[in-house]
Amino acid sequence: MTRLYIIRFCDDELMTSTRPPSLGDAEGDAAVDPVHAWDAHNTRLAGHLQHASLESMDALPLLRWATDTFNAGRVVLNTSFQYSGVAMIHMAAEAGLQLRYATIDTLRLHPETYAFLRQLEDRYNIDIEVQRPDAEQVQGMVRRFGEYLFFDSKTLQEYCCQIRKVKPNERLLTTVDCWISGMRRDQSDHRRQTPKAMTVSEYGSRRQILKLNPMADWGEDRMLDFIRDNDIPRHPLYDQGYKSIGCFICSTPVSDAEDQRAGRWRWFNSDDRIDPQEAKECGLHIPRYNI
Ligand code: SF4
Repeated sequence: MTRLYIIRFCDDELMTSTRPPSLGDAEGDAAVDPVHAWDAHNTRLAGHLQHASLESMDALPLLRWATDTFNAGRVVLNTSFQYSGVAMIHMAAEAGLQLRYATIDTLRLHPETYAFLRQLEDRYNIDIEVQRPDAEQVQGMVRRFGEYLFFDSKTLQEYCCQIRKVKPNERLLTTVDCWISGMRRDQSDHRRQTPKAMTVSEYGSRRQILKLNPMADWGEDRMLDFIRDNDIPRHPLYDQGYKSIGCFICSTPVSDAEDQRAGRWRWFNSDDRIDPQEAKECGLHIPRYNI
């Protein structure tokens, strides 16, 4: 109900993809029309899901299932380098799983985040793909609304997130069949019902993508024990009181009494016109209107 503006801002940018999908033996679908190919892809995906009890799997078996099930290069772990994302990088690298690793660089990240990315690449001998926003879209947004539009309203903050995060993520998703995220149920009330597996539609098409949240049921204590016991690198901002790390103005440290995501867009915390849970999501994990 609060996302009608997405259509308003983006009606000149709606995707009309004609690319064929790729899942399992989908190459043959390239010769047929896209809608038929999407349907065939979705049927195969549904078949995979029918025979797997993904909700009952722990994180590593679920990562292994994903790399066993989908073609090489079609599974991506997209992370902002918070605890759960880094823990899964560790698990996958130690187990030799053939995942792609990616991150969204909004061009607004903390300097510590860029340095941590390189540290992880060195430690695990991996390449992390960096997705950035479209320069023209960023320039157009700034020309129209200013550099700091996210202070002005929840709508403009979500628009900024859409240009800098959601759209680069959508571009990434056009290249995969399985998207792995570090969402956890204990991060906020809004995330309390996070499933370990769900399907999302590729924006602009009917193609379904499997989204896995392998650490959805990990609590903070288990996570911190795992990080400590395996000597896994920690994002340096955790030691400065951050519990959720995003862009450098829009994420701030939190007190022990606050929700993990209370430091996100803190200036909206006292605005009682805004749903306090919706106020803490950037749109990356909320389905958009599709066409
Ligand atoms: S977190 Fe802030 S700066 Fe980053 S994309 Fe969202 S509104 Fe823009």
